[in-house]
Amino acid sequence: MSEGATLYAFNCGWFQCRPGYFVEGDEGDYLRGPVPSYLISHPKGRVLFDTGMGVRYRRELANALPANKFGLQWFEGMDIASRLKAIEVDPASIDWIVNSHLHIDHCGGNALLPNASVIIQRREWDAAQAAPEPGLYEALDYDTGQPVKLIDGEHDLFGDGTVRIVPTWGHTHGHQSVIVRLAKGEVLLAGDCCYTERNLDVMVLPRATADTEQGLLTLERLAKARAGGTHILFGHDGKQWARITENIPFE
Ligand SMILES: [Zn+2]
Repeated sequence: MSEGATLYAFNCGWFQCRPGYFVEGDEGDYLRGPVPSYLISHPKGRVLFDTGMGVRYRRELANALPANKFGLQWFEGMDIASRLKAIEVDPASIDWIVNSHLHIDHCGGNALLPNASVIIQRREWDAAQAAPEPGLYEALDYDTGQPVKLIDGEHDLFGDGTVRIVPTWGHTHGHQSVIVRLAKGEVLLAGDCCYTERNLDVMVLPRATADTEQGLLTLERLAKARAGGTHILFGHDGKQWARITENIPFE
């Protein structure tokens, strides 16, 4: 009998880039990383951490982005509404959306979750509002009409320590991650404060980092958490994703 949280992982699309985009200085062929979304099911509510990309990034397999091109794409059935329906969860039953940050590949599915309230760091909301468009922030993705709860720093979502939102500044000024306590231990959903496991292994940030000093402090905190036994799920790590089974409770 479980009184705690259950976690599901979904991939909502693909992010293609050169290795140097993820780990500054790395070279080699184009990589393909997932664009993850996570469902946390808790007795007091259903939570999504990140929601994928907007409909303008949808492609048909016949005109998929070539493997040697930078960009984002998703295919039929990968949007968050389809992902939820595939495990018989009604998108309208989602209570909370926690967006790691408001870049286009993290909140593009918010509009598909009509009854959710969005939890975002106040400083991330401000950064999005101040950003030029088109660009990494687009209001059509993040400003979709649901109630927005702006927070400053840590937030224990259900008050019982099972779903803790923690600030992980650096990639953007108001980036946040979530620590989920499962029966087998803690899982940290990193989002883009750490794109891949390799960033943490070599302690190197990507070039596209809003605040390098804060970003390195965040990596140090992640390294400590990992050493303490926390399982970290990275933002766009294709190698790690190959070991994850979607649609079943994560263990
Ligand atoms: Zn991203």
